[in-house]
Amino acid sequence: MTNKEKMIGILGGGQLGMMLATAAKNLGFKTNIYSPDYLSPALNYSTDQTIAEFDDKKNLTKFAESVDYITIEFENIPSDTINFIAKSNKLFPPSDAIKISQDRLKEKNFCRENKIATNKYINVLKTGDLSDWNYGKKSVMKTRQLGYDGKGQKIISSKREAEEAFNKFGQVPCIMEEFIDFKLEASTISVRDTYGNTYTYPPAENFHKNHILDTSNVPASINMKTENALKDISTKMITNLDYIGVLAVEFFVLKDNTILVNEIAPRVHNSGHWTLDGSEVSQFEQHIRAISQLKILTPKLIYKTKMLNLIGDDINIWKNKNNSNNEKIYIYGKADIKKGRKMGHVNFLEDLE
Ligand code: AMP
Repeated sequence: MTNKEKMIGILGGGQLGMMLATAAKNLGFKTNIYSPDYLSPALNYSTDQTIAEFDDKKNLTKFAESVDYITIEFENIPSDTINFIAKSNKLFPPSDAIKISQDRLKEKNFCRENKIATNKYINVLKTGDLSDWNYGKKSVMKTRQLGYDGKGQKIISSKREAEEAFNKFGQVPCIMEEFIDFKLEASTISVRDTYGNTYTYPPAENFHKNHILDTSNVPASINMKTENALKDISTKMITNLDYIGVLAVEFFVLKDNTILVNEIAPRVHNSGHWTLDGSEVSQFEQHIRAISQLKILTPKLIYKTKMLNLIGDDINIWKNKNNSNNEKIYIYGKADIKKGRKMGHVNFLEDLE
């Protein structure tokens, strides 16, 4: 069977699905995007579309039967759906890794079990659990599930504030963790294939605005020892998760170069968009290769790259500009401009010294 006859199913229809579908097409695959929203940007880029809710077992069955491999483009797909789809044995990354990354407590426990440093934390299931925390230092309360771009997070300076935040979050399962006065934030994009090959791209240095990723710079302003340490941790995580596909790991690097894992994402990641132009092979192509049992490639860094997210109205400045040699513009084609919504990104390229 050639790639042309094979179909990749993607759960989710956002911009990550759009860029995965494009990479799949370039490798000769057909794609079926599964999304509950008929306005999803990825739908225009796929061969087939399934518009249905994630708990629609009839459509999930039909979708799973119609494709050769299945992957996800966002991690907050209900765990019942993940379990149902996993039965097809076509799902990559593995469901266990997806479930760990859906829950901040499981992520931190995984780090602890694998001797990977993370900040101090406790599980908060009831108000009484808040008595087990030391409020001497600034902390952060986070909902264990469904938080993103700063949603479901609150900085805490006292037990009273912790109780208020826990009530505001509706007493859903949370964690309390230390606030980290980091020197910089970095992330890695790692990929592992079914042949056991693993590759980690050079780490990106990330800057956030209003809790949303604003820019990612590669190479990061870190020394070789820190770069190697970040890559070693990512390799350990992707191997110990017995993972297939792209895994993103977000880190805090402290002033003394101590490294702490903040969180992981079991998918292609916004801080890896620079790979579309700054590397010989993008994170999207690598992910499609890995999940479809092709070998991943060992790419070279070909440009210093700064990725700038176009959030909300920012898109208006860029949408009528043409790509130039050193500015590559990506417009996601979302129906409405909304405050805080990721509408596109630009990769700024600079020759390597
Ligand atoms: P997260 O959803 O955990 O990735 O958090 C989003 C952003 O909030 C991070 O990239 C950091 O900039 C900031 N942040 C999250 N947790 C902490 C923490 N414990 N200490 C300091 N900043 C944090």
